[in-house]
Formats: sequence, C-alpha cells, structure tokens
Amino acid sequence: MARYGRPSQRGDYLSPVVLPFPLRVAWAPKTLVRSLRCHHLETGRLAAIFADILAHYGPARIRELGIDLFGGCFSYRRMALHNAWSRHAWGIAIDLDPDRNGLRVDHTRAQFARPEYAAMIDAFEAHGWLSLGRRLDLDWMHFEAGHVMPVRPAATTPVRPAPPGVERRPGSFGF
Ligand SMILES: [Zn+2]
Repeated sequence: MARYGRPSQRGDYLSPVVLPFPLRVAWAPKTLVRSLRCHHLETGRLAAIFADILAHYGPARIRELGIDLFGGCFSYRRMALHNAWSRHAWGIAIDLDPDRNGLRVDHTRAQFARPEYAAMIDAFEAHGWLSLGRRLDLDWMHFEAGHVMPVRPAATTPVRPAPPGVERRPGSFGF
C-alpha cells in the first residue's frame, strides 16, 4: 500500500471526483451526492467507472437497480474483521447498496450477485477496481482499487469496535 501513503483522519491525499450521475445516500436517499472524495491517484479511474456504468445502463435503470445507492468511500477506520487499515481509509474503496449486499451475505442472497449487475462489476474491474463479492463472495457492496487481499475471515472472528472518535457510517462497516 506504499503507493497510497499513510492513511490519516484529515485525508490530505483525497481529491474530489465529480460524478457523471448523482448517487443517493443509502440511509438518506433524498440526499444526493454529486461528487465524492477519493485518493487523488484514483479520481480518474473512479470517474471512468461511473461513466461506463451510465453508458451501459442509463439513469433510469441505474436507479431502478439501486446502483446509485451510496454507502461511503473515504472512512478513516480499520477493517471490521482484521486489524489492518481498511482501503476506505485511503479513499480507494467504495460501498454501494449496502442494505442488500451485507458483509456476510454471499451470492445466494446478495443483490449484486444477480446477473443484471455483471456489467457494473465489469466496469469497476475494467479500471482496476475489484469486487469483493466476485472475488471472495462476501461484502458484495464493496469495490476497491488494486489487488484484493486474500482474506478468508473466520465466522468466529469477533468484529472489532471502532476506535473512539472515529466515524462509522452506516453501511461501511466491512473491509
Ligand atoms: Zn467497503
């Protein structure tokens, strides 16, 4: 992760990405997100991913499928199942539609495992952002830059509480 530097609360390494279509905050869907902050090395790729998604689906289908339900990008925190920094801490991960793609939900129930979402996952992967759902069959909400870590969390691993003072957004609680 040397490429991205050290994560910090302030996130000096973040830059805004203007999205080609607005996202809806998953837990407050009347709130629209027209730009978000991610690591400055990934702004171009993230913009390209969402442009590809828009080109493939169009705005109405995006909304109908819930692809626009935003669950968080930058979040200064460690992973829920591992004592390592989450890629959200660098702003190189994004969660979408968290309610229907939970951390421990596998392909039999995850919304994004359905075939109509394959083109969305392809768009992420075409620009080097991988789907934990497709790769590990967990946390289908989560897409991240780079190579997915070979993690197989044990079902008995306790979920670590967030350190005091660290914001925990609803929906962004996994990797
Ligand atoms: Zn995530």
